[in-house]
Amino acid sequence: MSILDYEKRYDEILTNIEKVRVRVNQHQIVKIVAVSKSVEAKEISNMYSIGQRAFGENRVQALKSKTLELENLPIEWHFIGRLQTNKINALIDLNPSLIHSCSSLELALEIDKRLKVKGKKIDALLQINSAKEEQKAGVMPEISLDTYDEIISTCSNINLKGVMSIGAHTDDKKVIKDSFEKTYAIYEELKNKGAKYCSMGMSSDYELAVECGANMLRIGSTLFTNKRRTDEESL
Ligand SMILES: *Cc1c(COP(=O)(O)O)cnc(C)c1O
Repeated sequence: MSILDYEKRYDEILTNIEKVRVRVNQHQIVKIVAVSKSVEAKEISNMYSIGQRAFGENRVQALKSKTLELENLPIEWHFIGRLQTNKINALIDLNPSLIHSCSSLELALEIDKRLKVKGKKIDALLQINSAKEEQKAGVMPEISLDTYDEIISTCSNINLKGVMSIGAHTDDKKVIKDSFEKTYAIYEELKNKGAKYCSMGMSSDYELAVECGANMLRIGSTLFTNKRRTDEESL
């Protein structure tokens, strides 16, 4: 796509977000993380040139190569994917600004152990499997508050900043909404423990996520491709 196309897509998405945001919470700032996992460095720099600063990748290797290719740009990199234990060190070395996918106490302990060795700290979100889907990572909603506390008390090199969740995998808007509401309720409980971000909402459901209180969206395909949502697809 040309820069002009990118600007149009970006404006459209911002307008969609604003429509919902002013209705539900005038004071809430909603941050967009542009998920760049399916595009090349060139497209990231195009998006950067129109003002986007935060980008998200879901594989450590891709994050590494894109970080290198774009090292002249002060991009804020987010890690949003499944993190294998043998990739933790490599991820820490890339200094991501936020890890969205801290998905269990065990993983947090592994990350913390390596951070201690390196003498580093990192910001992270606790991923919650709010829709309780087998194929998804994340802690179950029932134990999420306890796990959050446990990470705070045992992982001193991880700064927990809130929660992340992926909406239920269905076309049923009501079910997706339930999963977002569940995540938001947990986030609210954690605000007095320093939770600042509620990361939920992707290309297909970001407006619904904002309606449910999300203040961080992870948007990929609809931002980087020319494909417009048809009315049937839209929420
Ligand atoms: C790919 C991905 C996204 C973005 O998905 P789109 O539908 O392309 O907007 C968001 N979050 C996670 C965890 C992802 O892997």
